[in-house]
Amino acid sequence: MTTKGHCLCGGVTFQTDAMPQGASVCHCGQCRRQTGHLWASAYVAKEALHVTGDVTWYASSDNAKRGFCAKCGTVLFWAAHDEDTISFSLGGIDNPTGLSLTKHIFTADKGDYYEINDGLPQK
Ligand SMILES: [Zn+2]
Repeated sequence: MTTKGHCLCGGVTFQTDAMPQGASVCHCGQCRRQTGHLWASAYVAKEALHVTGDVTWYASSDNAKRGFCAKCGTVLFWAAHDEDTISFSLGGIDNPTGLSLTKHIFTADKGDYYEINDGLPQK
């Protein structure tokens, strides 16, 4: 199965034939601030993700960077410097995704304006 996605303006596209792993929702302060609420993503090996267009990278911490389209602002990628995987936005991929969320992460940092009640594991 091929997973395809793109930013809002279409300037950046991505595609992979690898099976995306670890579909999750991140509640950390950085993800909430950058996305406006939550960052939902899955990951594949960096070499398995094929990207076209201009991705702007922001080093959000000493160990990771976040990729987005500078034209339309869509948040698309997250990658740790010392890992050989890259995470991509679940919101950016086309249906049917064939994916299901598996967990919530960094829930200790979640906002106080919502509850998590879908029964998935929280870390
Ligand atoms: Zn764009």
